[in-house]
Amino acid sequence: MSGGQIAAVGDTREIRDLAGPGTRVIDAGGATVLPGFIDSHVHLFCGSAELDYLDLYGVLGLGDLTEKVRGYSDQCRDDKVVFAVRADYAILGPGRKTTRHDLDSVLPERPFAMFAADHHTVWANTKALELAGILHGGDVDRGSEIVMAADGTASGELREPGAYSYVLRLTRYGGRDLQGVLTGADPTPPVAPADRALDRELMAKGLKHCARYGITGLHNMDGNFYTLELLRELEQSGDLLCRMEVPFHLKEFDGIDRLNEAEEMRQRFNSDRLWCNRVKMFMDGVVESSTALMLEPYPGLVTTGDAVFGVDHFNAACVMADAMGFQISVHAIGNLAIRRTLDGYEAAIRANGRRDSRHRIEHIEILHPDDLPRFRELGVVASIQPGHAPFGGIFPPDGVGRMLHAHQIPLAYAWEDIRASGAKVIFSTDWPIIPVDVMANIKAAVSPIDMPEPWRDQRQTLFNTLKSYTADNAWVEFNEDRKGRLKPGMIADIAVMSHDLEALEPQELASSHAVLTVSGGQITWEA
Ligand SMILES: [Zn+2]
Repeated sequence: MSGGQIAAVGDTREIRDLAGPGTRVIDAGGATVLPGFIDSHVHLFCGSAELDYLDLYGVLGLGDLTEKVRGYSDQCRDDKVVFAVRADYAILGPGRKTTRHDLDSVLPERPFAMFAADHHTVWANTKALELAGILHGGDVDRGSEIVMAADGTASGELREPGAYSYVLRLTRYGGRDLQGVLTGADPTPPVAPADRALDRELMAKGLKHCARYGITGLHNMDGNFYTLELLRELEQSGDLLCRMEVPFHLKEFDGIDRLNEAEEMRQRFNSDRLWCNRVKMFMDGVVESSTALMLEPYPGLVTTGDAVFGVDHFNAACVMADAMGFQISVHAIGNLAIRRTLDGYEAAIRANGRRDSRHRIEHIEILHPDDLPRFRELGVVASIQPGHAPFGGIFPPDGVGRMLHAHQIPLAYAWEDIRASGAKVIFSTDWPIIPVDVMANIKAAVSPIDMPEPWRDQRQTLFNTLKSYTADNAWVEFNEDRKGRLKPGMIADIAVMSHDLEALEPQELASSHAVLTVSGGQITWEA
C-alpha cells in the first residue's frame, strides 16, 4: 500500500518485487489478511467509559461479588461512587432479587452501584441511594421506576434511565457515560474544560481498544454535537484511530423539525474519517424486561411492551428524513416494532419514491413470518448482533426463551432465514452490551450453541460472517467503492490476523486475534 491506499494485491513474489528500500515488509506468515473490520452498531462513549469500571461479567454469588468489589474499591479512592458494570440480573442466585441491603453487605462504608449488562437497571447500596437523594423515592418519568420496598424506602433496584440517572450522575464521568444514548441533546450546562479533556481522552482510549481487534471503522448509534466536536479534535491530533459514522438521534419527544439539526451535523462533519448521514430512532425496548413491542402479550403477562414512537409521528419522521436524503436506522426488537418500522420505510417509499436509501433495522430479534419477505421487497438492511442471541454463547441461553411463546421462537434471532430471504445482513456488537471483541462475535455466528426445538439452526458460514463484518458494513455506509475489499485503489484499512481463519475449527475461532491493524495506511495496532 502507499498513499493510504492499497497499491497491489498478489502472491508473495509479486508483492516482494514491488518493495523499495523504504518499504516496510510485513509477513502475515500464512494467516488471514482481511479488509479492516467495521462494527456497524456501537456506543463509543459509553463503551469506553465502561472499560474503566469494574466488570462483573461472569461474577456469581455474594462471596465472589464482595471480593471483586472490595478489591476494586481500593483502586478508585477518588470516585464518589464505586461503580461496576455488566452485572447479571441473577447475580445472587436464580430468581433472587438484588436489594440495597445485599449491596450494603458487599460494600458498607462507601456508595456502590452496579449496572445490568442491558443498561435497563442499576442496583445501588444505601450509601449510594442517600448520596443520590432517592433513599425515600423521587420523581421519575413514565416508564422508569425507583422500586420501593414494603417499609417505604427504595429497595435498591432502579429501573430505566429516569430512575437510575440520579446515581449515574455520581460516576467519574458525571453521568455523561450515557450521553447521547438517552437523548440526542447536548450536555447542559456545557461541559467544563477539564471534563471535556477527560471525555476526549476517554474516547481516544476506546478507539485504541477497538483497533486492537482489527477494527478500522465504527458506526455509532448515538450522537450529539458535543461528541462530534471531541471526535473532530481527535481527528486533528491523529488519534481518531477508527473511522466514525455518527447519527443524529431523534427521540420520541422531538418534533420532526429537529431534523434541521441533522442537516447541520451532516454539513459540519463530512470528512473521510468522521461523518454524519443518518437518523437514529428507537421503536421499542428489550424482550428481557418485556418492553420489546409485540403483537400479543408476553406469556403470563398482560403487557405487549412499549411503543416508543406513535405511528403517525414515526411515519412522518421517516418520510421527512428520507426526503432529506438521510439513511434511517431504527432499534426494533419485538415483532410489532419491526412491523411498524417496515411500515414507516414503506410510507417513505410511497411519499418520496424508491431510492437507494439503505435504511436499516437494528436487532430484529422476534420477527413475524409475514414481515420476513418485506426486508428484500423494501430494500431494508438487517443489522444484527450475533452475540446477543441466546445461542450466541455470550448470554445465558435460557434467559430470553421464557419471555417468548413457542410459536415466536422459529423466527427469533433468525439470521439465516433473513439472509436466505435475500435481504442484506450486516453484523455488529452493540458494544458495550457485549464486548467489541470481533472474533467472539464471529464465533457466535459461525459456531452457535445447539438449542432444542422449536429453536432453529441459524448458523452462518465463515465467509458470509466475514462479509457481513467488512464488505457489507462498508456497503451500508455507501462506501463499497472505497472500502471493504482488498483491491488496488481501495482505502488501506486492513486487519492481519493471528491464524488462517479458514483452517480453524469453528469453535476455535475466538482463539484468533488481530496482530496488526492498518487504517488509511497507518498502523493503529500491532501486537
Ligand atoms: Zn445499541
